[in-house]
Amino acid sequence: MQIEMKEHAVGEPEHIAISKSTGIKIDWADGHHSDYGLAYLRDECPCASCTGAHGTEPQKTSYSNPGPFPMFKPALKMNSVEPVGQYAVRIYWNDGHSSGIYSFDHLRQICPCGECRAAVEK
Ligand SMILES: [Zn+2]
Ligand SMILES: [Zn+2]
Repeated sequence: MQIEMKEHAVGEPEHIAISKSTGIKIDWADGHHSDYGLAYLRDECPCASCTGAHGTEPQKTSYSNPGPFPMFKPALKMNSVEPVGQYAVRIYWNDGHSSGIYSFDHLRQICPCGECRAAVEK
């Protein structure tokens, strides 16, 4: 699945390539390139229950870092991805979770590339 953004500004995606079994790749209008693995995206789900936004215990997953005794889980997959307006995508996971709306702002912030990680850790 490919999403071509017709109108985009600097800092917004120009092109989004979605593979349900491997993840999402975004070419940003400013020339930056991001490559998000499935586990990483699932762990970074921005919805209120995963982040504890309403004062509840965050239900953050740990697919990308299962620890020494990982519970058995079926392989993570995206069942579908829907564009939300011009600003976000919604991901339907095969673990039943689908409340995460991944805005492009959020995706750009969590870009896992070395350059962006280095900028965050400063
Ligand atoms: Zn979530
Ligand atoms: Zn980056």
